[in-house]
Amino acid sequence: MKETLFRQLNWDVSLLLAGQKDFSLTEEEGNTYGIARKEFLSLIPADLTGAEFISQAYALYDSLITTYIANNPIACKSNCGYCCHQLVCCSELEMRIIADYLSTLPRPFMRKLKKSIAKESRRFLNYLRRITDGKLGKIVMIWEDIEVKVMLDWHGNPCPYLLENKNCGIYPVRPVDCRIAKTKVPCGTVSRKEDLQPVRLVIDQILSDVVTEESAKISGSMQVTPLAYWPLTDNFKNIC
Ligand code: SF4
Ligand code: SF4
Repeated sequence: MKETLFRQLNWDVSLLLAGQKDFSLTEEEGNTYGIARKEFLSLIPADLTGAEFISQAYALYDSLITTYIANNPIACKSNCGYCCHQLVCCSELEMRIIADYLSTLPRPFMRKLKKSIAKESRRFLNYLRRITDGKLGKIVMIWEDIEVKVMLDWHGNPCPYLLENKNCGIYPVRPVDCRIAKTKVPCGTVSRKEDLQPVRLVIDQILSDVVTEESAKISGSMQVTPLAYWPLTDNFKNIC
């Protein structure tokens, strides 16, 4: 089973970001994905839905990926934080899980984190206003057109949840994008995107898909949204 889940996908993230390659799988990768997805889902109790399903999918992924890393060393370590300086997105259900987690944090820490969320969201809002000539109301409609530009522009800016010590303030509930980020060479040590060696496995794609699909059952949309943008939406304006 692990052989299919841990198969590496032939993606070059730098090319993806530059809009030069799409996310589609080759036919062979698609077949492997189908088999591995069934196996992954068979390990999650069938009656779980919503946040419970996502929490279980996160836990299963984390446990399997720990086995992978034990046999396939990667460069990532805690306090690296380089990949926390870019536009990280998540689905609505993941955002709800994060919002619930924030409400359980000790008050002084929660206040500090909320201050950071408010600050980074304000900065992101100002940036969006600049690039859309103030037509922010149309951001949802034009998001697909500007997504690659925003990702490239925003590279280097800290995630709202990144702490001063470069740890993640919401580590137990960090979204899929953060869980699947891994590379063979430390990202901060290469000057050209072409030299990055991201590790993208079939199991990464499965986690991303099953979480987004579960969220869509509730929100009605497969859309993922930047962490810095969620607090600007009606459903999450109270988190900071
Ligand atoms: S993906 Fe890159 S930036 Fe993120 S922890 Fe790994 S080496 Fe560091
Ligand atoms: S949620 Fe945590 S792990 Fe993800 S980008 Fe933000 S600080 Fe980094």
